[in-house]
Amino acid sequence: MARLMIIGAGGVGTVVAHKAARHSGNFTEILLASRTKERCDAIAAAVEEKTGVRIATAGVDAEDVPALTALLKDFSPDIVINVALPYQDLCIMDACLAAGVNYLDTANYEPRDEAKFEYKWQWAYKKKFEDAGLTAILGCGFDPGVTGVFTAYAAKHYFDEINYLDIIDCNAGDHGKAFATNFNPEINIREVTQKGKYWENGKWVYTEPHEIHQPVTYPNIGPKESYLIYHEELESLVKNFPSLKRARFWMTFGQEYLTHLRVIQNIGMARIDPIIYKGIEIVPIQFLKAVLPDPGELGENYTGETSIGCRIRGLAGGKERGYYIWNNCSHEDAYKETGAQGVSYTTGVPAVVGALMFIQGKWKGPGVYNVEEFDPDPFLEQLASDGLPWHEEHDGDLEL
Ligand code: NDP
Repeated sequence: MARLMIIGAGGVGTVVAHKAARHSGNFTEILLASRTKERCDAIAAAVEEKTGVRIATAGVDAEDVPALTALLKDFSPDIVINVALPYQDLCIMDACLAAGVNYLDTANYEPRDEAKFEYKWQWAYKKKFEDAGLTAILGCGFDPGVTGVFTAYAAKHYFDEINYLDIIDCNAGDHGKAFATNFNPEINIREVTQKGKYWENGKWVYTEPHEIHQPVTYPNIGPKESYLIYHEELESLVKNFPSLKRARFWMTFGQEYLTHLRVIQNIGMARIDPIIYKGIEIVPIQFLKAVLPDPGELGENYTGETSIGCRIRGLAGGKERGYYIWNNCSHEDAYKETGAQGVSYTTGVPAVVGALMFIQGKWKGPGVYNVEEFDPDPFLEQLASDGLPWHEEHDGDLEL
């Protein structure tokens, strides 16, 4: 019996609203708030049609902390699921502190003028949340999110120490568009065009963007060229699992996607600094977002599936062993259930599962936490029953 407020009405917010409504026994009141109220109203109407559950809506600029604090005080939720953009994380955390509300998100804070992908700003809120007796759960989507829980599950059940971690993320879906991103284009392009970075022997190793790549075989999909990129969960995982000698993140990209990306960068459309156009200040990547397909609208003809998992090697009983844990998610099934594609689905479902863990008292404690710091078992059990079943392989040929 809890009150839930969702902030953000994009592709991920759509999934969170649908899934939360299916848990109306736990979330007895739900408010969906975002910058554009009409988008919240459209999602609420679709949720009511599919599930019969009514959710309330509100328009709010999450960067206006006093306005957001007033809305939080008025609705008085037990927890906020923040699925707006990473730029709003700190404002939403500030408003949660001011209103005495617990917090969960799926992406770490980013300053608008720098693509940094670092937890330092949010980790700095630890004492404030501790003093307020509130819980903040960071990075509870799929990656970051489930990948951290998968790692914690492996460390808890199968290893004395984990030494090598490769997170492998494949989207083998086809949306039929020449170029589109699967989540917010601005955030996605900032993420995939940055330099590569991985952890080895106690330090970060930097690479040129997409410099290191190799084919990786994904279950039910087959081999796909996979590129080493930096991904934010590596930072918290190497901190929370200091036995890791190496931690890397791999993502598949098609040639067509990479060609478009190269052109976008070469012509300056990926720039995140403002330029003056006909006397108006615009940020090229924000303008580009306005003309690209909306990721929330990609679902209808999306076929194929995603496959995301962790390949881990380490020691158990003095012997080296390997372990692979993964989920495959069908874009079509995700669309049938929620009207959104698989990438939004694999992000939104874990966010709702994380909020359920919190309200059931299974993931709780004053302070700021990454997901791998909590007990992975109840989360993974709930995740499987909520549409994201996972699979395991032991001691196979898992070397990358
Ligand atoms: P969208 O761009 O589709 O949606 C973002 C939503 O946030 C929009 O409804 C937008 O409002 C709203 N918003 C933006 N600014 C504000 C503001 N100032 N105040 C209130 N609302 C605001 O993004 P996605 O749904 O694709 O992604 C949502 C989040 O999920 C992102 O942070 C993304 O990084 C994260 N993500 C995490 C993944 C993971 O596995 N961990 C994977 C994929 C995404 P408006 O409609 O007015 O534009």
